[in-house]
Amino acid sequence: MRLLEYEAKELFRNFGIPVPNGAVVKSPAEIALAIERVGLPLVVKAQVPVGGRGKAGGIKLAYSFEEAVREAENLLYSSLKGHTVRYVLLEKQLKIAKEYYLGVTIDQSAGKPVVMLSTEGGMDVEEIAKKKPESLISKRVEMSRGFYEFEARGMCKQLGLEGSLLVKVSETLRKLYEVFIKYDAIIAEINPLAITENGEVFAADAKIEIDDDALFRQTSLNIKPEERVEDPLKAEAIKIGVTYVRLDGDIGVIGSGAGLTMATIDIINDFGGKASNFLETGGGITEQLMYNAVKLLVKDERLKALFINLYGGINPMVQAANGIAKAYRELKVTIPILVKLVGNEQEKAWEILENAGIPVIKSIRTEDAVERLMKIIEGF
Ligand code: GDP
Ligand code: MN
Repeated sequence: MRLLEYEAKELFRNFGIPVPNGAVVKSPAEIALAIERVGLPLVVKAQVPVGGRGKAGGIKLAYSFEEAVREAENLLYSSLKGHTVRYVLLEKQLKIAKEYYLGVTIDQSAGKPVVMLSTEGGMDVEEIAKKKPESLISKRVEMSRGFYEFEARGMCKQLGLEGSLLVKVSETLRKLYEVFIKYDAIIAEINPLAITENGEVFAADAKIEIDDDALFRQTSLNIKPEERVEDPLKAEAIKIGVTYVRLDGDIGVIGSGAGLTMATIDIINDFGGKASNFLETGGGITEQLMYNAVKLLVKDERLKALFINLYGGINPMVQAANGIAKAYRELKVTIPILVKLVGNEQEKAWEILENAGIPVIKSIRTEDAVERLMKIIEGF
């Protein structure tokens, strides 16, 4: 879950990372007061959970009151990079002399955090690595040991920093690591760290992405993921506890397990069809969960069929069948539905589905089921 810039900056502020003076607005009525509080000139920044806002027109410099109002009003509720701008951050404009890059992320191959520093900020880290690799240094951290000030200073020295700039940048880098650990982040980034004309240092931008699997224990953040996603089906999926990804086809897919679901989507493709989604139940199927999953997908008006592919290892197949049958009856599903189900108590589960009038494929091969599915769709 990616935080918005102003949220990430709030965490930075709590950790003593210098951030520019700013105020966030969520309605036009709040703009004038915010400008007065922040002071001119300022930067008007669209708050969307993606990078590259500058290039996409989401970051505007304003020098007069009128200009600031106009830019803020224009950005508010606009669409930027596929996201609706619900918040605009007004921030004191910095006189930037130099932009640095500071980042902490997970080095997947080492399974350890890696701290990165570059004197060429402003562009993204992949681009820095390609264009100015000599300006970028990184250091893996032993989590049990932590990341120390002297190590941060060493990194700064390697890039030729000295004096008070070295002290400020290294302190910021160490604090960024602290934020990263404290909030179970998978990325914490300051890009750019603005070095002003009079030698001050500010986080001009802030990116924090929290590990979704750790959100439950990050209670101080008070984040409800389902309130942050714009696709209503995706929001519902988070609520009911299934993994959902929207795709651009018209065959709804529910699978018990990520591998099975992906294979199912591939096989549908092989038979000339296209899945409308990836929906994976995980290992916690109950009657209610299955009911909810069917209910979620049949809301999608693109659907011309629904295919459910289940394997009962730890998942109880009888409960799954009961949930599907209940949804089929109560929701009055009008599109064709086909279930392939094998595993524990399969005979009982088949019976439940067949009694509900739902066609069941009893083969272990998903190909057999998809072949049948395509015929059902053709004949429908
Ligand atoms: P991003 O494009 O989504 O990464 O958004 P940023 O917050 O990084 O802003 C993009 C660029 O706008 C930065 O790299 C800066 O060059 C510029 N910018 C941001 N804040 C200020 C500011 O206070 N003063 C000036 N002069 N430029 C700024
Ligand atoms: Mn940036």
